[in-house]
Amino acid sequence: MRYLILSDIHSNWEALQAVLEHARGRYDRILCCGDIVGYGADPNVCTEWARAKVHTIVRGNHDKACAGLDDLEWFNPVARTSALWTQQEVSAENIEYLRSLPKGPIEAGSFQLVHGSPLDEDDYLVNAREAAQLGGYVGASVTFFGHTHLQGGFELHRGGARRIQRTPEGADSFEVELEPDIVYLVNPGSVGQPRDGDPRAAYLLYTPARRLAEYRRVVYDIGKAQAKILGAGLPELLAWRLSQGT
Ligand code: ZN
Repeated sequence: MRYLILSDIHSNWEALQAVLEHARGRYDRILCCGDIVGYGADPNVCTEWARAKVHTIVRGNHDKACAGLDDLEWFNPVARTSALWTQQEVSAENIEYLRSLPKGPIEAGSFQLVHGSPLDEDDYLVNAREAAQLGGYVGASVTFFGHTHLQGGFELHRGGARRIQRTPEGADSFEVELEPDIVYLVNPGSVGQPRDGDPRAAYLLYTPARRLAEYRRVVYDIGKAQAKILGAGLPELLAWRLSQGT
């Protein structure tokens, strides 16, 4: 079984289409670490796609917020504006689906999916020191997570953690063979709103039989996604940041 692992699609249909085209023929099943919606201008088409195609998924904080499951008081003003816009825009069937998404961790074969961290779906795993503190609590040797929009992740060794790098700028893929006695927290990066300085859409292919994780990036039509965001009257910052990768 080969998995296509996506996270943080954020209503960016252009980025999602580019990822699916780039990964075509290289996977059997699609998994998602949450945040289908929020920020971008295409929540319905992205949610309909997820309903039809994603095999296993955990909910993200934006999925919860846009489905009315979370109060928006913790969101910054731009995120709140986009969540309120999305609530108005999304069809009843899609809201129902977003509302029904399970909380992580969710087991998927020999590994697990979470949105933020194995301990709390809303936590941000940004630095190695925070990741190291999870040693002993992770619950699976391989965990896929999202939420930070930073491709890469961490290897947990006894008493410490080391960062895994994202795909280099000059390449479109970067392979990591996962060793059996190391605990891995793997972030595929964000499809629809990368924040690691590389504006290309991010995703990951994983083949458990070979313990092979392949981090990938693909260019997409950023201008079209930006025009839709501005056309919808969403905050300009949400369009601008797509071309910055921040
Ligand atoms: Zn997100």
